Amino acid sequence: MPGPGEYRPDPTVGIGRVEDLPKPKIACQSRNYRRRPCPRCGHRAYRDRVARRTLHDLGNPLTGRPRDIILIYSQHYCTRCRKYFNADMSDTAAPGSHYTRRVVELAVRLVVEDGLPYRTASWALWRDHRVFVPYATIQNWVEAGGEKGGASDRHRLPRLGVIRLLGIPRRRRAV
Ligand SMILES: [Zn+2]
Repeated sequence: MPGPGEYRPDPTVGIGRVEDLPKPKIACQSRNYRRRPCPRCGHRAYRDRVARRTLHDLGNPLTGRPRDIILIYSQHYCTRCRKYFNADMSDTAAPGSHYTRRVVELAVRLVVEDGLPYRTASWALWRDHRVFVPYATIQNWVEAGGEKGGASDRHRLPRLGVIRLLGIPRRRRAV
């Protein structure tokens, strides 16, 4: 194993085709339950069916392999509210996101705390953590205050919340 600071050539240098990139290591996680309390009324609702989503996680810099999580989860039907809901997995990833929270948090930190431009942060995530995130996606995360997507998240922090909180002038981000 190479020591700290030792130069290791990037195994992806010179690779021009996506299919030649190292294959991700797949980890399976389960949020599959028979019954779950309804988030609206608390009624213990039975599972209606099972679904899955794939999440990009931080990869392994030593093996050079990205890491994907296949998350199996149950979808439930509340007979009182007559509404469907998913088993809660918001600790792993925000609703609708293709990335784990770990990736989002690290990406936002690279920009907000380390001051990297979006494109550099995108490259650093690939180089050091083997996760490919388009820089525009990182920009969305930072402007949404570190949360991907959900309307409820947007209400909690104003858009550009992180930027405003840290007093970073807008100009500096336009790199
Ligand atoms: Zn309900």
